[in-house]
Parts: sequence; C-alpha cells; structure tokens
Amino acid sequence: MKSCRREFIVRSAVGLVSSAFFPLVAHAAEELSETDPSAVALGYRVDATKVDKAKFPRYAAGQNCANCQFYQGSASSKTAACPLFTGKTVEGAGWCNGYARRG
Ligand code: SF4
Repeated sequence: MKSCRREFIVRSAVGLVSSAFFPLVAHAAEELSETDPSAVALGYRVDATKVDKAKFPRYAAGQNCANCQFYQGSASSKTAACPLFTGKTVEGAGWCNGYARRG
C-alpha cells in the first residue's frame, strides 16, 4: 500500500514536470531552410560565402548574420533568431539581403 502511494506521488510529479516542459520544447524555433520561400526571396544562405553575388550585389565579403544588427544571438552563437524570419533561427555564418552591420 505504501509503495502504491509512493508510485502515485512519483507519477504525479513526472506528469507535472512533463506538462510544464513539453510546451517549451514544442515551441522551440526551427532552423530556417534555404528553400523556404521567404529565404529564397531574400537570398538567405547558411554559408555567407555561397551568396549569389550577381543576384544580391549588396553582399560584401565578411558580412554574415553574426555581425548583423538583426541577429538575436551573440557574435559567437552558432544559430539565433532573426526578426526578418519570424519563428525561425538562422546560422551565424549565414547571410540574407536584409543584412545591416551591427553598430
Ligand atoms: Fe542574417 Fe541579418 Fe539576414 Fe537576419 S537580417 S538572416 S541576421 S543577415
């Protein structure tokens, strides 16, 4: 009887932790794909050196998401959110035509 009560308490605690944790996991941002229509429109590439320079002449060597003012992570973050692509993360080494040098 005592072990049944203990098991109930443990299962209840696990249930509470699960319901508190999984909504956060379910809303974790997914990484922006280069084939996403909004990414294609802005010429986003996960590797800035692969930008189509003929199509996006604003690109200059050395520019990437990590030194863009819209990048929501630190300069050393591998990925971070970008307000131009709501709900997605972009690569620090990436680039898109919305680039603006971090001040
Ligand atoms: Fe990267 Fe800046 Fe373009 Fe966002 S706006 S994808 S941080 S270059």
